Amino acid sequence: MGKSDLPDGYAGLTFPWAEPPAEGEAVEVAEGVLWARLPLPMALDHVNVYFLREDDGWAMVDTGFDTKRTRAIVDRLRGGPLGGRPITRLLVTHHHPDHVGLAGWLQGEGAELLMTRTAWLMARMLTLDDQPLPPAETIEFCRRWGMDPDILAARATERPFNFADIVAPLPLGFTRLREGEEVTLGNRRWHVARGDGHAAEHAVLYEMGGDLVLGGDQLLPGISPNLGLYPTEANADPIGDWLAACDRLAPLARPDHLVLPGHKLPYRGLPKRMASLRQNHVTALDRLEAHLDVPRTGGACFAPLFKRRVEGALYGLAFFEAIAHLRHLHLTGRVTRTTRDDGVWLWQAV
Ligand SMILES: [Zn+2]
Repeated sequence: MGKSDLPDGYAGLTFPWAEPPAEGEAVEVAEGVLWARLPLPMALDHVNVYFLREDDGWAMVDTGFDTKRTRAIVDRLRGGPLGGRPITRLLVTHHHPDHVGLAGWLQGEGAELLMTRTAWLMARMLTLDDQPLPPAETIEFCRRWGMDPDILAARATERPFNFADIVAPLPLGFTRLREGEEVTLGNRRWHVARGDGHAAEHAVLYEMGGDLVLGGDQLLPGISPNLGLYPTEANADPIGDWLAACDRLAPLARPDHLVLPGHKLPYRGLPKRMASLRQNHVTALDRLEAHLDVPRTGGACFAPLFKRRVEGALYGLAFFEAIAHLRHLHLTGRVTRTTRDDGVWLWQAV
């Protein structure tokens, strides 16, 4: 979920292309680098994908969900802007389904898959995890953290979102991207850096001797990437991971960089964006702390974080993001936790 109403999301950025490419079409954003879009059936209705021309075909960066429609669009792209040349390599920036969805399908057609190890392990683990109903750990996690009881009761009886619903099965085997190494992609050399917080070990690639950055969801313009705490790693600290990643990546940013992000438009102004990507969460933590002048549950912490009404499909994303912020305040000693009679945690500023 993006907080698209944050005032500083676009400040100081420039967008060389005002309009995205139409469905099935591509725009050349640098020599031999094409930008296309695949649709997503959500509020954030698209994901960006990029194609880098290589001697024997194309290296693709990220994919959409695996659906009939996205497969058809990729086929149209191959027959059109890609000139009938094959997709021989695929770089997936992180394990989220809107980025990895078609990877297994393209691997089946002969593409080599490049991912960080954590991203690949997460994606493959999640596609193999068949959940007809939410597991008991998930229910207990959500209950303790204060999910709205009516919403939790409804969720407990429904088949949850399963990764495999929209991600093609991933065959065994991938090529590991490592933090700090150099890789060649599209006849350009890239430095591999590691993002974190939005997705574990998110790859961010900086062109060496050039101005391109493959930013994935780590470096989005306009919207702040969702940072969620989930039962898979209930004691994680996504906000702390995010802030650390901002500190690690900020020194790499140059004003002339052309960032090719996972969503929204390619942009310049990365140093400014790095500062606001960090600051958004610093100020969110401050607002949340102020909101906790009285003890509250995680489910009662949306108001200081999200300016728009949280309902429907957004509830889950908002909930997991709100509790991630609570978790960070707790780890940094800014809030205390008590347990209500029914076992639900209450949080209050120190
Ligand atoms: Zn993502």
